[in-house]
Amino acid sequence: MKYIDLHTDALTKEGVLSVTEESLKKGGCFLECFACFTPRGGLCETLKLCNKFEKMCVSSGYRWVKRAEDLEGEGIHAMLTVEGGEAVEGNIKNLHLLHEKGVRMMTLVWNFDNDIGGTHGGRAVGRTSTAHPVPRAHPERSEGSHRLTDFVLGDSSVASLPQNERVSTDFVQGPSVASLPQNERVSTDFVLGDSSVASLPQNERRSLGLTPFGREVVERMGELRMLVDVSHGSDALFFDVAAWSRKSGIPFVASHSNARAVCAHTRNLSDREIKILADCGGVMGLNFYDEFLSSDKSAAGQKSALIAQISHILKVGGEDVLAIGSDFDGIPQNAYLKTAADMPRFLEDMCEIFPSRVVEKLAHANAERVIREGVG
Ligand SMILES: [Zn+2]
Repeated sequence: MKYIDLHTDALTKEGVLSVTEESLKKGGCFLECFACFTPRGGLCETLKLCNKFEKMCVSSGYRWVKRAEDLEGEGIHAMLTVEGGEAVEGNIKNLHLLHEKGVRMMTLVWNFDNDIGGTHGGRAVGRTSTAHPVPRAHPERSEGSHRLTDFVLGDSSVASLPQNERVSTDFVQGPSVASLPQNERVSTDFVLGDSSVASLPQNERRSLGLTPFGREVVERMGELRMLVDVSHGSDALFFDVAAWSRKSGIPFVASHSNARAVCAHTRNLSDREIKILADCGGVMGLNFYDEFLSSDKSAAGQKSALIAQISHILKVGGEDVLAIGSDFDGIPQNAYLKTAADMPRFLEDMCEIFPSRVVEKLAHANAERVIREGVG
């Protein structure tokens, strides 16, 4: 069965890779989304990775997907993406440049707040640059560092917190954030401006959603037909993007995020987020990072966790929201799925549990639908 993978860091990683021409061929990959992830942020480094991608497509014979019609034909297809909107460097012209270079999806934030919006876990980070401040420090590369703390665990526990401790936004979002009274929109308008978030009292450090510049970026991405990716984002950022998606009718994605109800980590999506994502016609890519799956790191434990994830997402969001976002080469090897060559075994295993129709949707049909709609 062919598959689409919405996220790999193979462009960035040096050394032995899980995603190679050989492993993609063995795995039956139809489309791999290669992310430009630059630990130091910047446009210049991102453009170097764009050039690397272009050369790789030529040398490996990948079919470069820039629009829906490029999804035709046999062979391995490749799409260029960016992980971390700090690549835009606060200048909307750079977004246009990235689009010209062939970028068709961008993860708005990585593991720190940037000038576009807030990261998962509701961290408030100081800001520096002049036009649209960016973070001072870049943490070491690690896929996710925030274990879910008690106060953001699940919707019900949040609801029971005293008002001044509800620092995540789960409790205010509903079908439409835009319809909320102004004083209930706890997304981050109030923390924008030049004053540092870090100086806010603890109970006002609510998670950062989209900044005004972030809203401009998202709207422009919609116009350019570049998919908006909320993986790594805060809950507030998720709901801000969802409100835009409802208004514009353009689907968005969480390219490599699992379900929080099955594995409590801020990198994973809450049930309400999964429902809204499905309602907006988007997809979430199953992430193979064992930290986002289960404390049982054995092959059997990881397989069970993936089955639990799929079962839960099916129940909550339905079969049209499922996709794959392996995160190969951005994560330590998963004991169950080590490389792209393991994908046929994974899909066969899933066919023993779920109807083949569902596995086809998970493997490629849903992601293809969203890419066709979003990239045009
Ligand atoms: Zn990532």
